[in-house]
Amino acid sequence: ASLFAAVEMAPRDPILGLNEQFNADTNPAKVNLGVGVYYDDDGKLPLLKCVQAAEKQMVEAPKARGYLPIDGIAAYDKAVQGLVYGADSAILKAGRVATVQAVGGTGGLKVGADFLKRVNPAAKVLISDPSWENHRALFESAGFPVENYPYYDAAKRGVNFDGMLTALNGAAQGTIVVLHACCHNPTGYDITPAQWKQVVDVVKARGLVPFLDMAYQGFGEGIAEDGAVIQQFVDAGLDFFVSTSFSKSFSLYGERVGALSVACASKEEADRVLSQLKRVIRTNYSNPPTHGAQVVATVLTTPALRQMWEDELAGMRVRIKEMRVALQAKLQAAGVKQDMSFITQQKGMFSYSGLNKDQMQRLRDEFGIYGVDSGRICVAALNSKNIDAVVSAIAKVS
Ligand code: PMP
Repeated sequence: ASLFAAVEMAPRDPILGLNEQFNADTNPAKVNLGVGVYYDDDGKLPLLKCVQAAEKQMVEAPKARGYLPIDGIAAYDKAVQGLVYGADSAILKAGRVATVQAVGGTGGLKVGADFLKRVNPAAKVLISDPSWENHRALFESAGFPVENYPYYDAAKRGVNFDGMLTALNGAAQGTIVVLHACCHNPTGYDITPAQWKQVVDVVKARGLVPFLDMAYQGFGEGIAEDGAVIQQFVDAGLDFFVSTSFSKSFSLYGERVGALSVACASKEEADRVLSQLKRVIRTNYSNPPTHGAQVVATVLTTPALRQMWEDELAGMRVRIKEMRVALQAKLQAAGVKQDMSFITQQKGMFSYSGLNKDQMQRLRDEFGIYGVDSGRICVAALNSKNIDAVVSAIAKVS
């Protein structure tokens, strides 16, 4: 028999399956709200002006493409640290953070997970219920058992914060807790700063290991505002992990630009941690790619381009918020009776719409409106042209 005779077909990625179904749909009015991507008001994936300007500079002063250091472009890592901890923060001045360039936010999570398996092999991992669908698989593939902590409360249309806190309180010392720093994917529900404080207190009291996934910094309330939660962990004197993704905030999905930062107790400890992160990278893919990180480093370190980026990111954030306001108002105007104010309270690209599987199915079959069966829709794929069709379809299945 062939070596692969007994290899089973892996389950299909549910969202990719949805995309295939969408592409095959001949309905001219079809709308894809299943994606996890920001589209502009013309329904197009943006190519940011700051990115184009940085690439122009790079083309005009072409550089040979040697290997990067294992931890990536130094100026890039430094710029990432500035975004995450604040450029003037004491923790950076003290040299207490180890940062490596990573292959997207996913790469940052995986490098962190592989490193944690070496330092904390017997730990369990807790992720939110629900969470980004790759969290579980990623930590399981690093060798950890993964369980959920309560997060979404469907009846309340909000966060089951008591449930979350109880679960964290019951976790064994050393448990790795994956937290969405802002713009929770898939629900859109974030916890408040006061609730973060309680999470930090429990994490500290129980000796848990926080791993903050920051894939949407700047999509909630602003770059500094969304990053403020990091300071709470710093102030508590915790060792913690932060994965960064620029896929969305720079619209550089295919360039795979991300990072992992680990806050340590001292510079000397950060140096040792960095040496181990490099070992993980070296044995996985040796060193990271050049282009995307060079673009991001150029933008973040050139004042005019940096301003351009902050404006363009604000533009994306504001457009999403406008879509939330319009969606809520139009649903109410279309006669949907229940309280829809949760739509404008949620943050980031996604909304748990509260629609059930049957309703999501009807949206697809009868109206060509594609969202995830969980009820998740991508608000960042709504625009002034498709929103009325989406609203009238939702009103009909509600
Ligand atoms: N974490 C979360 C919560 C995400 O939503 C995503 C991307 N959808 C990622 C991580 C991964 O980001 P990247 O595409 O940069 O690997």
